[in-house]
Amino acid sequence: MSIKYRDEIKNIEPYVPGKPIEDVKKEFNIEKVIKLASNENPLGCSPKVKEAIIKALDKLSIYPDGNNTELKKALAKKHNVEVDNVLPSSGLDEMIVLIANTFIEKDDEVIMGDITFPRYLQATEIMGGRPVVVPLKNFSFDLDGILERITLRTKIIWICNPNNPTGTMITERDLIGFLDKVPSNILVVLDEAYKEYVTRQDYPHNSVEFINKYKNLLVMRTFSKAYGLAGLRVAYTIGDKEVLQYINRVRGPFNVNALAQVAAVAALEDEDFLKKTYDTNLQGKNYLYKEFDKLNLQYVPSETNHILVNVGRNGQEVFIEMQKRGVIIRPMAGNFIRISIGTMEENRFFIENLKEVLNKGQ
Ligand SMILES: *Cc1c(COP(=O)(O)O)cnc(C)c1O
Repeated sequence: MSIKYRDEIKNIEPYVPGKPIEDVKKEFNIEKVIKLASNENPLGCSPKVKEAIIKALDKLSIYPDGNNTELKKALAKKHNVEVDNVLPSSGLDEMIVLIANTFIEKDDEVIMGDITFPRYLQATEIMGGRPVVVPLKNFSFDLDGILERITLRTKIIWICNPNNPTGTMITERDLIGFLDKVPSNILVVLDEAYKEYVTRQDYPHNSVEFINKYKNLLVMRTFSKAYGLAGLRVAYTIGDKEVLQYINRVRGPFNVNALAQVAAVAALEDEDFLKKTYDTNLQGKNYLYKEFDKLNLQYVPSETNHILVNVGRNGQEVFIEMQKRGVIIRPMAGNFIRISIGTMEENRFFIENLKEVLNKGQ
């Protein structure tokens, strides 16, 4: 006899993370390996974060502040909202599951894009919700298509803006038009994990202000990408106090660890680091666009720190060939790969090796 697990778990695929550098070094017996697979910050993190962590090391025997007091205060100030409009979490990964736990009942419908962050689908399935998957149009979210799929059973709509892995974005105008049409009993979750990299002016840069008008809107941000703190696990969500109160009942009492809390506060104070991250990313993006053009490869123009590229050859094959040469990328469906933008040195190393793999070396 075996222990019975919940039916909902039957078809859930475990998340496949980007391959760690050390594994690739050992497997192929190579010295130099770079990872451009998980959209991490190639510059690391702010030195101010390291100082704050060193100071906090003496207090590791003490439980973290379960209320995240200092972090919430800092975030409320940054976004000009009240402390109760902010809820930190152990990464957005945790928040996605917390939202699903709080709101999704069996057979509730949950709308999302077909090519987007995979955790929305998994979190829905874990709760026995019904995923309603709307195909992207031209690699972008089809907001009209999403509106057409709303029914009386719809509970949540997940919008990733800009989207991972396509790098495309929804404009402020389109977003407002969309929010105006969504019934107020449906939760709209905006995942803005890559917000800090956006270059376009018509992006909803002030989406946090929308929470005053749309009580059914949650805006999610993370310290894992532009702030370079993926290893610490810290993110936050901004929204209506009442909605956050429900989620707050579900979260573990100490979900954000003590080092993550002090690190996040310090990270918010270093605007220079964020600027350097943005500039490095933009320079790398323009370089990669140029090289892809020279190689006649199609790519999707990106507002993030990653680019979806059609390499004209099976993505999985290219992934394996690149790995042998010390470059870890992310294989996607068909002939696509997703490449995270690195330092200029990493970007050049990637392009050199891609030319070899695609037999396009001059
Ligand atoms: C990386 C990523 C996340 C997860 O972020 P964490 O805060 O590290 O859990 C969430 N959403 C999107 C779109 C991402 O790309």
